[in-house]
Amino acid sequence: MRLLLLEDNQRCGDLIREHLRDAGYLVDLSATISDFWTMVAAQGHDLYILDLGLPDGDAMDLIRDLRLQQNRVPILVTSGRSQVCDRIAGLENGADDYLVKPFHCDELTARVRALLRRPPAIEARRLTVGLLDLDSASGEISLAGERLDLSPSERRLLTVLMKRHNQVVPKPVLERLLYEAEATSTPNAIEKLVSRLRKRLGSAMGVEVRTIHGDGYLLVELP
Ligand code: CA
Repeated sequence: MRLLLLEDNQRCGDLIREHLRDAGYLVDLSATISDFWTMVAAQGHDLYILDLGLPDGDAMDLIRDLRLQQNRVPILVTSGRSQVCDRIAGLENGADDYLVKPFHCDELTARVRALLRRPPAIEARRLTVGLLDLDSASGEISLAGERLDLSPSERRLLTVLMKRHNQVVPKPVLERLLYEAEATSTPNAIEKLVSRLRKRLGSAMGVEVRTIHGDGYLLVELP
């Protein structure tokens, strides 16, 4: 199970991540809403844990936007806002549970488990960019109707780029998403991976992976 944690307080984020990892979960950590959106594009988060007050906005709006986009991943809010009206607003905006800070990490884990016991969420099944087609349920990607034979990291990269097509995905975010579980990432691993992916996609396929120097990568649909 892979969880996505949004928490700008580094000490708090590290503590929660550590605790959930000990409980057997993979945890991605983002400190800003913008980072969070990029990480959401990566496939396979089973639950989001959201702090509300973030440096680049209020996660209450984020929850609304996620639900507006038909994103049904369970959301657990952890916030210092303890008023009844805050808790109600969180739940009414689309959160599934609300835990007031400070909390005991064991209670957080118990609530995570309870939310994950619910039946799986139904996500939009297909995403099409140019001639590329992503089946969210199986994770398979096809190009012009033919299944693409990709390595797991190539598929993960292409999935992220497809879900955020026409937007730059920052390189550090890609590194975190692709290599967090592996200790063997080399300094130019992403460059090599992108170059392999470009070869597989070939030319004149309706899409292009562009390098935005000093920033990241983006997948564009060609006219
Ligand atoms: Ca905060």
